[in-house]
Amino acid sequence: MVSTSMNHTHVKSSSAGASLDPQRIKQDFPVLQQEINGHPLVYLDSAATSQKPQCVIDAVNHFYTHDNANIHRGVYELSMRATQAYENARATIANFLGASRPEEIIFVRGTTEAINLVAQTFVRDRMGVGDEILVTTMEHHSNIVPWQLLCQQTGAVLKVAPINDAGEIILDAFREKLTKQTKFVAITHASNALGTINPVADMIALAHDKDIPVLLDGAQAAPHLPINVATLGCDFYTISSHKMFGPTGVGALYGRYDLLSDMPPYQGGGDMIRSVTFEQTTYNDVPHIFEAGTPHIAGAIGFAAAAQYILQLGFDKLLTYEKELLDYATKALIAIPEIRIIGTASEKVPVLSFIIEGVHPHYVGTILDQKGIAIRSGHHCAQPIMDRFEIPATVRASLAMYNTKEDIDALAASLKDVLEVFR
Ligand code: PLP
Repeated sequence: MVSTSMNHTHVKSSSAGASLDPQRIKQDFPVLQQEINGHPLVYLDSAATSQKPQCVIDAVNHFYTHDNANIHRGVYELSMRATQAYENARATIANFLGASRPEEIIFVRGTTEAINLVAQTFVRDRMGVGDEILVTTMEHHSNIVPWQLLCQQTGAVLKVAPINDAGEIILDAFREKLTKQTKFVAITHASNALGTINPVADMIALAHDKDIPVLLDGAQAAPHLPINVATLGCDFYTISSHKMFGPTGVGALYGRYDLLSDMPPYQGGGDMIRSVTFEQTTYNDVPHIFEAGTPHIAGAIGFAAAAQYILQLGFDKLLTYEKELLDYATKALIAIPEIRIIGTASEKVPVLSFIIEGVHPHYVGTILDQKGIAIRSGHHCAQPIMDRFEIPATVRASLAMYNTKEDIDALAASLKDVLEVFR
C-alpha cells in the first residue's frame, strides 16, 4: 500500500449547525478579502468562474511542495504518492456525481473538452447523413459548436428545442423534436445565461423512451445542486472544476461504464496505450484510454478538494441559502422599475440576467467595477439565447454561497447610481 501525505482536505466551515453562514464561508476565500477601487470586493461572476477556498489552494500547494512527480509510470515513492492522490481524486469526483465506479470518471480540461470528447468518440460513429442531434435554445456555445463540427463531418443535422418567454423548456415541443432521426440529445442541466434549471429527469425519460442517449452539461448545475448520475439516468455528464471552487484547466466527464468501454480513443499519446510498435498499438483500459499525455495532476487534486468542500458544507444548507439569496436579489432588482430580468423560470440556480432600458450592459459593468463590484456583461457565450430574447447582451449577476445580502444591497445601490447618471 502506498503511503500518501495527501491529508489536507481540511474545511474550516463545518456542516454542523442549522444553516449556512455566508460571512464565515467568505472567510475561507482569500481573494474575497480585498478592496477593489477603494471598495470591498463584491464578486458576482461565479458562473464565469468561482473563487477558490483556502483548502483548495492548500491542496494544490501541498502537492507541488511534497508529492510532485508524474503518475502511473514511476516505481519510486513520489510517483506512487502522486498516482495515489490523482486516483483518490477520481474516486472523490465519482462519489460527488454518484457514479457507480471511479473508472466512469475521465479527467479532462473542462466541460468544453468533455463534450468534444463525446461528440468525436461516442456520437460520430453513430451519425449518418440526415441524422439529428437535439439541443435546446439555452445552450452555452460549448454545447453547440462541437455538434456543428460533427454535423459538418457527418452530414447530420442540429435540431433545437424551443423555450418559452420565461426561459423554460417547452416539454411538448422537446418531445416532438425527438424523431426517428434523433441519434443523440445534449442539454444543459442549468443555463449560465438565464439560470433556468431544466427538468432533466423528464427530458432523459422522454429520450430514453426512444432509446436515444443523453448528455447533460452540468457546468452550472454542479456548484449548486446535488448531482446523482445514477438517479438521473443520464449517459454522460460534464463538469468544470473552476465553476465549482476548484482550479482552472481541469474537469470531469462521467460516462456509463458500458458505453465508455465501447468507445474508441479520443487523442493518441502516452498513458492511453498498453503497448506500441510501429505496426500496431493496443490501448489502455477505461478511463486511461481517454487521458492521453500527462494530465493536470495538481488540478485534479485541487478539484477533489473543492468537491469535498462543497459536500462538507452540505447541499441541503447550500440549496436553502442560495434560494433565499436568489429571492432576495430578485426582489431587489424588481424594485428598480428600469430593470427587466431576462430568465424568470420557476426553478433557477442563483443567476440573474437583466437589462436596463437605454443603458448598454458594458457601461453598467464598467461603472460597477468602480464600486468594487465584479459583474459580467455580454452574451455569456450563449448568443442564440440573446437572439431568442432579441437583445444583444445582458448584465449578469451570478451568485455563490460566499455572497451575502450585503453584496446584493451594494449591487442594488450601485445600479441606482448608474440610473441617476442617465436621468
Ligand atoms: N456549459 C455551460 C452551461 C457553461 O456555463 C460553461 C462555461 O461558462 C461551459 C459549458 C464551458 O465550460 P468550460 O469553459 O469550463 O469548458
